[in-house]
Amino acid sequence: MWLYGTVLLSSPQAVRAAEAVVEVNSIARDYVGLVLEMGKHDPGYVDAYYGPPEWQEQAKSRKRELPAIAADAQRLARLLADARSGDPLEARRIRFLALQLEAVLARLDMLQGRNLPFDEESRRLYGVVAPSHDEDHYRKALQALDAALPGQGTLAERAEAQRQRLIAPDDRVDSVFRRGLEECRARTLRHLALPVGEDFRVEYVRDQPWAAYNWYKGNAHSLIQLNLDVPFVVSEALQRACHEGYPGHHTFNALLEQRLVEERGWLEFSVYPLFSPQSFIAEGTADYGFELAFPGESKWPWLRQEVFGVAGLDPKAADAQARIDELMKPLRHLRIDVARRYLDGQMSREEALRWITEYRLVSPQEAERYVRFIEKYRSYVINYSYGKDLVGAYVDAVGGTDEAKRWAVFGELLSNPTVPADLATH
Ligand SMILES: [Zn+2]
Repeated sequence: MWLYGTVLLSSPQAVRAAEAVVEVNSIARDYVGLVLEMGKHDPGYVDAYYGPPEWQEQAKSRKRELPAIAADAQRLARLLADARSGDPLEARRIRFLALQLEAVLARLDMLQGRNLPFDEESRRLYGVVAPSHDEDHYRKALQALDAALPGQGTLAERAEAQRQRLIAPDDRVDSVFRRGLEECRARTLRHLALPVGEDFRVEYVRDQPWAAYNWYKGNAHSLIQLNLDVPFVVSEALQRACHEGYPGHHTFNALLEQRLVEERGWLEFSVYPLFSPQSFIAEGTADYGFELAFPGESKWPWLRQEVFGVAGLDPKAADAQARIDELMKPLRHLRIDVARRYLDGQMSREEALRWITEYRLVSPQEAERYVRFIEKYRSYVINYSYGKDLVGAYVDAVGGTDEAKRWAVFGELLSNPTVPADLATH
C-alpha cells in the first residue's frame, strides 16, 4: 500500500514491483488468518495479536481441520516462493514470511502427531540447530566452580547458601522489580527511541513453568508477569526486568509495531506465533539486551547502590556472586543439552532432573519447573542461551566497542524483519 504513488506506477518495473507488494500483502493477510486459526488447535501458539479484531473473529468461526490448514499453508508458501522485490527491506519481508510459514508447516506436522528429533524440530521451527555438549563439559565447569565457592558443605549446599544471600524479602519484591524495570527503561531510552506513550503493567503469578512472561497487547503496551514461586534473587530479577521489558520483549514488540505494522502496513507483524524463527530473535535479543544495558559486571555496583540497602542484603554477597556468574557461563547451554537428550529418548525424566539439580545447582523444585518447561516448550529452549550467543557475536562483530554503535546495531535487529541467518558474522 505504501508503494502506490502516482509516479511509481509509470514504468513496467514499477508496475511489477507494485504487483509484488499487493501479492505479499495478500499472502501476509492469509498468513495472519492461518496463525490465528492454528491458535484454536494449539493453545499458547498465538503469543500476541493486535491486528484487526474481525480477522480474529473470522479465524474463530472457521471449522477447518489440521490437514486443510496445512494445505493452505503450503499454498501460501508456494505463492511466496515466487515473490521477488528489488527493495532490500521488502526482500527481507518476503524472506521473513517464508521462514515463518515453514515454521507453521513444521508445527502443523507436530500437531498431527509427527515426532521430530530435537535438532530437526529446532531447525524447522526456529531456523537453527544448537551445538551439543557432553556431560564432561558440565563436569569440568562444575569442578572449577567447586574450587572457587567458599564455605562449608557440599557444592550444592554452598551454592544455595550463597543464593539465599541475594534473595529479597517478600515485601520488597515489587519495589525492587519496578526499580529494575525503571532503570532498564532509562538505559534503553538513552539509545533507542520508543513510541510515545509506550507502557507496561506488572502482575505477580504462581504455578507457571516460566519465571516471567511478557504478554504484548498492542498499542505499545505490555503485561509483564513475574512468577513468585521462583526465588527472587535480585540480580536475576534485574535480568528479568531487562528481558521482559527494556530492551527485551516489550521494546522489540513496540518497535515492530511502530516501524513495520504502523509505518508500513505490514500486518503479519501484528501476530506473533510462538513456535517460529521470530522467537529466536525475540529471546536472543531479550537475553543479550541485559548485557547491553549492564555491560560486564556493572550490574553489581548498581544493585549495591540501589537495591541491596532497600532489600537488607549484605553487599559482600555481590562480590562472591560476580565470580560465580563468571564460572557458571560454560553451564549456560545445559537446558538445551538436557532437553535434546530427554526429548529424543536418550535420558529419563529422573536423569534430566539430576542433571539440572547437579549442574545448575538449583533446588529439586526449581529443577522440576525446568523439566516442565522443557516438556511444554520443547526445542524452544535453544532460543535463549544460543540466541543470546549469536546476537552477542553479531553486535560485537558489527558494533565493535563503541557503545552507541552497539546499541544502534541492536536497535536495527529489533526494528526490521530479522531472521537467524542475519546474525551470521562470516
Ligand atoms: Zn523471553
